[in-house]
Amino acid sequence: MRKKMIAGNWKMNKTPKEAVELVKLLKDKVNTKESDVVFCVPAIDILPVVEELKGTDIMVGAQNMHYEDKGAFTGELSADMLIESGVSHVIIGHSERRAYNGETDETVNKKLKKAIEKKITAIVCVGENLDERESGKAIDVVKGQVCADFKDISKDDAKKIVIAYEPLWAIGTGKTATAEQAEEVCGAIRNIIKEIYDEKTADEIIILYGGSVNGKNAAQLFAQADIDGGLVGGASLKEEFAQIVNYK
Ligand code: PEP
Repeated sequence: MRKKMIAGNWKMNKTPKEAVELVKLLKDKVNTKESDVVFCVPAIDILPVVEELKGTDIMVGAQNMHYEDKGAFTGELSADMLIESGVSHVIIGHSERRAYNGETDETVNKKLKKAIEKKITAIVCVGENLDERESGKAIDVVKGQVCADFKDISKDDAKKIVIAYEPLWAIGTGKTATAEQAEEVCGAIRNIIKEIYDEKTADEIIILYGGSVNGKNAAQLFAQADIDGGLVGGASLKEEFAQIVNYK
């Protein structure tokens, strides 16, 4: 049985002081028994958030990581830096980084390999844009991304990676994919993993849906057979996040 995971992507929101205030508001309200709960916070917030979450089961994630161990990469953070700071998860290949920061399937693949080597759980984002959806290419696009992102990753390592299906047209738009649309692509992703690896790997890998998840639609989305939880943007910055985690 796959355990549910609900991860909040705070994006570029919350100063360190505001981050601690949000954590204080949420930490006793989210139920971590039934789901793994991760706050993916801006890099500057990692240390104070880790400190504030001591004694809870809530985990802390980063929103990006470099694939090299160290060196002349101004502005970047390494896996070791994140791990030593208390980070257990890292979002890789978010569509905003693919759109604004030159992230490609090739860099995503290198980052996933580094995450596996360093034992930090990667949450890799894939998803189609509106044109691709409207022209019936959603599953082909996602298949291309998954195949490229998982290139030369073994089946034992593949199942350590979390996949987040995030259709671009649903991110930050208030336009959620219907539970059927989300399930169709998450089910297709599980099949792609089965084709690349095997049924056992496909059964074990965690697949999240992301795109305007809120307190009202979470239960229906997370009830789908192939959706193991959510990657939540806007609603992870409010008390509503607790409602999403405690969706049952
Ligand atoms: C995201 O940024 O990963 C996301 C899903 O955002 P939102 O929930 O705001 O659509």
